[in-house]
Amino acid sequence: MKVLKFGGTSVGTPQRMKDVAALITADGQPKVVVLSAMSGTTNTLVEISDYLYKKNPEGAYSLINQLEQKYLGHVAELYSTDEWRGRTTTFLQEEFNYLRSFTKGLFTSFEEKVILAQGEIISTNMVTNYLLESGVNAILLSALDMIRTDKNAEPDFNYIRECTVAQLTANPGYQIYITQGFICRNAYGEIDNLLRGGSDYTACLIGAAIEAEEIQIWTDIDGMHNNDPRVVEHTVPVRQLYFEEAAELAYFGAKILHPTCIQPAKFAGVPVRLLNTLAPQAPGTIINNEMQRGTIKAVAAKDNITCIGIQSSRMLLAHGFLRKVFEIFETYKTSIDMICTSEVGVSVTIDNTTNLRAIKDELKKYGTVSVEHDMCIVCVVGDLATQNVGFETRACNALQEIPVRMISYGGSNHNISFLVKAADKQRTLQALSKTLFNA
Ligand code: ASP
Ligand code: MG
Repeated sequence: MKVLKFGGTSVGTPQRMKDVAALITADGQPKVVVLSAMSGTTNTLVEISDYLYKKNPEGAYSLINQLEQKYLGHVAELYSTDEWRGRTTTFLQEEFNYLRSFTKGLFTSFEEKVILAQGEIISTNMVTNYLLESGVNAILLSALDMIRTDKNAEPDFNYIRECTVAQLTANPGYQIYITQGFICRNAYGEIDNLLRGGSDYTACLIGAAIEAEEIQIWTDIDGMHNNDPRVVEHTVPVRQLYFEEAAELAYFGAKILHPTCIQPAKFAGVPVRLLNTLAPQAPGTIINNEMQRGTIKAVAAKDNITCIGIQSSRMLLAHGFLRKVFEIFETYKTSIDMICTSEVGVSVTIDNTTNLRAIKDELKKYGTVSVEHDMCIVCVVGDLATQNVGFETRACNALQEIPVRMISYGGSNHNISFLVKAADKQRTLQALSKTLFNA
């Protein structure tokens, strides 16, 4: 069985929902379909919660009413029979009454997560109703019965596998199994989520749990591009990526995929295909266990990076030094993206500056600390194994004119990263496209 995930824009209007329904039923094969909330809805739910945190129930109330009107408007467009218009209207009214009930009483992060979950609950009910009206043998399975996180807020994979298999086995013979992306329960059984953009993660977790034939992530771009199409011209989709290459690209800025979602698919050996709802015949990008030798695949950039340097004239890198430095970052729950060392100094980059002041204060015990903001990590991904001479040189050559603050090579066989100023991001990406892909 295949697992297909459709993002917010792919179910963003009643017409797009109909297109998705046509797409998933065309070949008659059974599948699991994971849906996001309609585009914009999760953002609105975040705004509603924000009003409630700020004790402004009127603000929340008016946003809920606006959202309700929008959804009620979709009903006439999506369904053709009075029966399903009626059923869906009743469902939506219950949903919005439920949302309105949060405008009274205590509001905590627990209530916020319940509110955030409604976007996916609504979209999946709407699409399931549409399929049922069209005579498709479809069923809605609640992600809250399948996806759970553990005490570290990480997916509890054994539980997920057991429950997903159990849900499918208990409901045999359906053509389409619809479920919600993003939402889950946590270790305490409360409603929670896999963080923004988490629907991809749900699809990969389910795909891995049932050892699917393939996981398909449907968006509105033709696969992963070899450079950022918003910044550089003449980018082209990459046809194939090795799991690790895709993970690096997703982490370092390729917006098309949730950064951690590749891991479960990789462990289960299930290929992930990125496809375009607007061009369903296009080949997209396949991510699998094959490593294509001798090619550089793509470039991506991660913004809002801060670089921290620690310099000392003493024997700085005496043993135990790096441990002390890393411990400081660990204490403040701040993860390090890049690291470069020399005998007299070490530089690291972070993207979360919440605890920067405290980190800086503690680092001062060990040397002179410098901080540079507005930096950007540019990462080149492909076959960059040591024995492949010349590949890293090509990447470096492209940057002849650009002041590079850090270079990281050799951390894995698939990546070389450069730290440059954010102001130099565009010309860095352009230079790499020109040199590496003749674009
Ligand atoms: N609806 C959620 C969000 O907007 C999850 C997702 O779409 O992947 O972040
Ligand atoms: Mg997404």
